[in-house]
Amino acid sequence: MAQVKRCAVCGKFQKSTTIMVKHNDKEVCPVCAAKLNIAQEVITPGKKGVTKHQMIPAIKNNIDNVEVLKKLAKDYPTIFNGSVRYLHKAEKEKISEIFGSTEISQEQANLIKRLNPNRKGITYHQIINAVKEATTNNDKNMITLIKKYYNDLLNKCAKYMKKEYRVFAEV
Ligand SMILES: [Zn+2]
Repeated sequence: MAQVKRCAVCGKFQKSTTIMVKHNDKEVCPVCAAKLNIAQEVITPGKKGVTKHQMIPAIKNNIDNVEVLKKLAKDYPTIFNGSVRYLHKAEKEKISEIFGSTEISQEQANLIKRLNPNRKGITYHQIINAVKEATTNNDKNMITLIKKYYNDLLNKCAKYMKKEYRVFAEV
């Protein structure tokens, strides 16, 4: 018999493929987890703050949950980076897909949050939208950051952008 998954917050039954977020020994659906910012509680900092002993299993347990991973990377970038090397190859690839690299600085973590990756990570869609937004806001800093971290992706998707965005981004 297939295991029935039910969200402890909204009470809705979930598809068997849904990745649940563990929260106080209960399972919460990704929608509720994102709403409630539950990623924060994937790790409870101890006296020494957050350690790799906490971070590594937190990443592994949430490897399919982009929201949780983004939050972990943003809140604890140093420990997050230090933990990635202890992951399995497939897990590292997953991190790399989402963040574009396995070494994430605070600056990049902030950029990632602004780019708002989906389950497929950062794709043309996110980059094009970011350039569009940067053009509208005359935000050259955003372009500089995109070029620093996602230059390949930017160049590849440039042909799908309107001319005014390409001009602003100088691609
Ligand atoms: Zn729910």
